[in-house]
Amino acid sequence: MSLPGIETARRVARRYASRFFQRPIILAYHRVADLDCDPQLLSVTRRHFAEHLHVIRERSQPMRLQELALALRKGGVIPSGVVVTFDDGYADNLIHAKPILERHEVPATVFVTTGYTGEECDFWWDELDKMLLQTDVLPAVLRVSVSGRAYQWDLKGTPKANGELLNGRWSITESRDPTPRHAAYRTLHQLLRPMAEEERRLVLGELRLWACGVEALSHGEALSAAEIIKLARGGLVEVGSHSVTHPVFASLPIEAQRLEIEKSKKDLEEILGLPVCSFAYPYGGKKDYTADTLATVQKAGYLCACANFPAPVKATTDVFQLPRYLVRDWDGDEFRRRLGQWLSG
Ligand SMILES: [Zn+2]
Repeated sequence: MSLPGIETARRVARRYASRFFQRPIILAYHRVADLDCDPQLLSVTRRHFAEHLHVIRERSQPMRLQELALALRKGGVIPSGVVVTFDDGYADNLIHAKPILERHEVPATVFVTTGYTGEECDFWWDELDKMLLQTDVLPAVLRVSVSGRAYQWDLKGTPKANGELLNGRWSITESRDPTPRHAAYRTLHQLLRPMAEEERRLVLGELRLWACGVEALSHGEALSAAEIIKLARGGLVEVGSHSVTHPVFASLPIEAQRLEIEKSKKDLEEILGLPVCSFAYPYGGKKDYTADTLATVQKAGYLCACANFPAPVKATTDVFQLPRYLVRDWDGDEFRRRLGQWLSG
């Protein structure tokens, strides 16, 4: 025989015990926007983002990145803490995400790529997407020279990616390229990603000349200096650095890495009038930075840095190589399931 009161007490005790043994995790978002075309799967819709924050409030303890970093430096971690971060510095982080974060009282850190601040141009990967996948009509042949090698695609009559003939939800994670436009987009993305900024600008300039009408598609979706100030106002959102030009650090000489790490910090501190203490490595995979990068970030005065590989935060985790779970555009139920798995790590 068991008394109902004892069963309830046991259930509550089990729930608290499991929560106590859950490890903290850091989530990586990029955009909160309802997009027709999102080949890099960077965006979460406003509705889904609100559902995610509801689940985070219900299932865990939302916390600030610097709070977690401080606990780590003291040799401990906070059970079931969840940190929300955003990479790149899209204006929709202010326009769409911040009001939802405020409504749910969930703090966040936004890592800004300072070279795009105040520029009327898009992030290079968005420009490529708009040029190749979202432009209605393109010239019949694309010929482009990259690093001394000539590439050519026959694009005659291919529809845009989110046109009626194609599924607008195509993404780079799919193995198939439905049209030569998709093949060109995938190849050029791979070629541009590790490139030095100057060389990438040259290739994009060449593409811009080739693609008519792309200017009309550019909105300048990066945060401006005024928007960065608004984002940080109120203290719920911390602004961190994501470099100046979003390079693959591992492919840069150390002096160029140092410039990216120090200049982005200085520029953001001038805009905000506040110390900038958090950094996130562009791309953030373990092969995208080196031991020298970590040392340079530490020496520049940052207190922590986020990478991009999935793992919970343990007491032994390097505070300059914090793991993060990439969040996709899942609904609340799917997010709850994944969050539960991650927290039990
Ligand atoms: Zn990034």
